[in-house]
Amino acid sequence: MTRKLTQEEAEAKGLDAKYPAQLLEPYKGRMVKYKYRFLNCGHEWELSLNNLVTGRGCGACYLDLGPTYLYLLQHEGFKAFKIGITAVEHGRPWDSRIRQFEYKGWTLVHKVKFETRAEAEAAEQAVLYSWRYFPDGVRPEQMKDGYGETVSRVYVLPADVLAIMDKGD
Ligand SMILES: [Zn+2]
Repeated sequence: MTRKLTQEEAEAKGLDAKYPAQLLEPYKGRMVKYKYRFLNCGHEWELSLNNLVTGRGCGACYLDLGPTYLYLLQHEGFKAFKIGITAVEHGRPWDSRIRQFEYKGWTLVHKVKFETRAEAEAAEQAVLYSWRYFPDGVRPEQMKDGYGETVSRVYVLPADVLAIMDKGD
Protein backbone atom coordinates (compact mmCIF):
# COMPACT_ATOMS: atom_id res chain seq x y z
CA MET A 1 0.00 0.00 0.00
CA THR A 2 2.80 2.41 0.80
CA ARG A 3 4.95 1.10 -2.04
CA LYS A 4 5.73 3.86 -4.50
CA LEU A 5 3.97 3.37 -7.83
CA THR A 6 6.03 2.73 -10.94
CA GLN A 7 5.83 5.26 -13.77
CA GLU A 8 3.50 2.90 -15.68
CA GLU A 9 1.22 2.38 -12.68
CA ALA A 10 1.03 6.12 -12.03
CA GLU A 11 0.20 6.82 -15.67
CA ALA A 12 -2.47 4.11 -15.67
CA LYS A 13 -4.08 5.58 -12.53
CA GLY A 14 -4.21 9.02 -14.14
CA LEU A 15 -5.89 7.63 -17.24
CA ASP A 16 -8.35 5.77 -15.01
CA ALA A 17 -9.39 8.86 -13.02
CA LYS A 18 -12.85 10.45 -13.19
CA TYR A 19 -11.29 13.15 -15.41
CA PRO A 20 -8.68 11.08 -17.26
CA ALA A 21 -5.36 12.80 -17.72
CA GLN A 22 -2.01 11.90 -19.17
CA LEU A 23 1.00 12.27 -16.85
CA LEU A 24 3.61 14.37 -18.65
CA GLU A 25 6.46 14.09 -16.14
CA PRO A 26 8.46 11.43 -14.27
CA TYR A 27 6.45 10.16 -11.31
CA LYS A 28 7.95 10.90 -7.85
CA GLY A 29 5.07 10.32 -5.44
CA ARG A 30 1.36 10.85 -4.86
CA MET A 31 1.47 14.31 -3.34
CA VAL A 32 3.87 15.91 -5.84
CA LYS A 33 2.32 18.22 -8.45
CA TYR A 34 2.81 17.16 -12.06
CA LYS A 35 1.88 18.55 -15.39
CA TYR A 36 -1.06 16.56 -16.75
CA ARG A 37 -2.87 16.77 -20.06
CA PHE A 38 -6.60 16.24 -19.61
CA LEU A 39 -7.99 13.98 -22.30
CA ASN A 40 -11.45 15.55 -22.51
CA CYS A 41 -10.38 19.15 -23.10
CA GLY A 42 -6.70 18.89 -24.10
CA HIS A 43 -5.61 21.48 -21.49
CA GLU A 44 -2.41 21.04 -19.52
CA TRP A 45 -2.72 21.67 -15.79
CA GLU A 46 -0.59 20.92 -12.73
CA LEU A 47 -1.94 18.81 -9.90
CA SER A 48 -0.95 15.80 -7.79
CA LEU A 49 -1.95 12.24 -8.58
CA ASN A 50 -3.70 12.24 -5.24
CA ASN A 51 -5.97 15.11 -6.30
CA LEU A 52 -6.51 13.59 -9.71
CA VAL A 53 -7.64 10.20 -8.40
CA THR A 54 -9.97 11.83 -5.89
CA GLY A 55 -11.84 13.43 -8.80
CA ARG A 56 -10.23 16.83 -9.28
CA GLY A 57 -10.69 18.08 -12.84
CA CYS A 58 -8.97 20.50 -15.17
CA GLY A 59 -8.21 23.88 -13.59
CA ALA A 60 -8.17 25.65 -16.96
CA CYS A 61 -11.74 24.49 -17.58
CA TYR A 62 -12.67 25.66 -14.10
CA LEU A 63 -11.38 29.13 -15.01
CA ASP A 64 -13.61 28.91 -18.03
CA LEU A 65 -16.57 28.73 -15.63
CA GLY A 66 -15.55 32.01 -14.00
CA PRO A 67 -16.09 35.60 -15.10
CA THR A 68 -17.85 35.60 -18.45
CA TYR A 69 -18.93 38.26 -20.92
CA LEU A 70 -22.33 38.33 -22.53
CA TYR A 71 -21.99 40.17 -25.85
CA LEU A 72 -24.32 41.52 -28.50
CA LEU A 73 -23.17 41.82 -32.12
CA GLN A 74 -24.86 43.24 -35.18
CA HIS A 75 -24.34 42.63 -38.87
CA GLU A 76 -25.15 45.30 -41.47
CA GLY A 77 -25.33 42.86 -44.38
CA PHE A 78 -27.57 40.33 -42.64
CA LYS A 79 -29.52 43.05 -40.78
CA ALA A 80 -29.21 40.84 -37.75
CA PHE A 81 -28.25 40.74 -34.09
CA LYS A 82 -26.33 37.93 -32.44
CA ILE A 83 -26.01 37.17 -28.73
CA GLY A 84 -23.17 35.11 -27.26
CA ILE A 85 -20.92 34.47 -24.26
CA THR A 86 -17.16 34.13 -23.88
CA ALA A 87 -14.81 33.64 -20.92
CA VAL A 88 -13.19 36.85 -19.65
CA GLU A 89 -9.85 35.08 -19.16
CA HIS A 90 -8.75 31.78 -20.52
CA GLY A 91 -5.13 32.23 -21.46
CA ARG A 92 -6.12 34.48 -24.35
CA PRO A 93 -7.63 37.95 -24.69
CA TRP A 94 -11.36 37.96 -23.98
CA ASP A 95 -12.14 39.55 -27.34
CA SER A 96 -10.41 36.89 -29.46
CA ARG A 97 -13.88 35.39 -29.93
CA ILE A 98 -15.27 38.79 -30.97
CA ARG A 99 -12.39 39.23 -33.45
CA GLN A 100 -13.46 36.03 -35.23
CA PHE A 101 -16.90 37.54 -35.74
CA GLU A 102 -15.59 40.97 -36.75
CA TYR A 103 -13.64 39.23 -39.47
CA LYS A 104 -17.01 38.05 -40.82
CA GLY A 105 -18.62 41.48 -40.73
CA TRP A 106 -20.11 41.56 -37.22
CA THR A 107 -19.58 44.54 -34.91
CA LEU A 108 -19.82 44.66 -31.14
CA VAL A 109 -22.84 46.59 -29.85
CA HIS A 110 -22.66 45.89 -26.11
CA LYS A 111 -21.05 43.61 -23.55
CA VAL A 112 -21.81 42.85 -19.90
CA LYS A 113 -19.50 41.06 -17.46
CA PHE A 114 -20.88 38.33 -15.16
CA GLU A 115 -18.97 36.75 -12.29
CA THR A 116 -19.83 33.20 -13.39
CA ARG A 117 -20.50 31.47 -16.67
CA ALA A 118 -23.82 30.22 -15.30
CA GLU A 119 -25.10 33.79 -14.77
CA ALA A 120 -23.99 34.81 -18.26
CA GLU A 121 -25.73 31.75 -19.73
CA ALA A 122 -28.92 32.61 -17.84
CA ALA A 123 -28.88 36.15 -19.22
CA GLU A 124 -28.18 34.81 -22.73
CA GLN A 125 -31.17 32.49 -22.38
CA ALA A 126 -33.33 35.44 -21.26
CA VAL A 127 -32.38 37.35 -24.41
CA LEU A 128 -33.05 34.31 -26.62
CA TYR A 129 -36.39 33.84 -24.89
CA SER A 130 -37.34 37.44 -25.76
CA TRP A 131 -36.51 36.62 -29.40
CA ARG A 132 -38.42 33.34 -29.48
CA TYR A 133 -41.21 34.45 -31.84
CA PHE A 134 -38.91 36.30 -34.25
CA PRO A 135 -37.12 34.77 -37.22
CA ASP A 136 -33.41 34.02 -37.04
CA GLY A 137 -31.31 36.85 -38.42
CA VAL A 138 -29.06 34.54 -40.36
CA ARG A 139 -29.84 31.45 -42.40
CA PRO A 140 -27.94 28.23 -41.60
CA GLU A 141 -26.19 28.34 -45.00
CA GLN A 142 -24.85 31.83 -44.21
CA MET A 143 -23.38 30.84 -40.87
CA LYS A 144 -22.55 27.25 -39.98
CA ASP A 145 -22.26 27.89 -36.27
CA GLY A 146 -24.50 30.01 -34.08
CA TYR A 147 -27.30 31.13 -36.41
CA GLY A 148 -29.68 29.97 -33.66
CA GLU A 149 -28.38 32.82 -31.50
CA THR A 150 -29.29 35.44 -34.11
CA VAL A 151 -32.43 37.45 -34.73
CA SER A 152 -33.64 39.64 -37.58
CA ARG A 153 -32.93 43.27 -36.65
CA VAL A 154 -36.31 44.31 -38.04
CA TYR A 155 -38.11 42.92 -34.99
CA VAL A 156 -35.84 43.98 -32.16
CA LEU A 157 -35.00 47.30 -30.51
CA PRO A 158 -31.40 47.37 -29.27
CA ALA A 159 -32.54 49.15 -26.10
CA ASP A 160 -34.80 46.20 -25.23
CA VAL A 161 -31.93 43.74 -25.62
CA LEU A 162 -29.56 45.93 -23.61
CA ALA A 163 -32.13 46.17 -20.83
CA ILE A 164 -32.25 42.38 -20.51
CA MET A 165 -28.45 42.09 -20.73
CA ASP A 166 -27.82 44.76 -18.10
CA LYS A 167 -30.24 43.30 -15.58
CA GLY A 168 -27.58 40.77 -14.62
CA ASP A 169 -24.71 43.25 -14.43
ZN1 LIG B 1 -9.57 21.90 -19.48
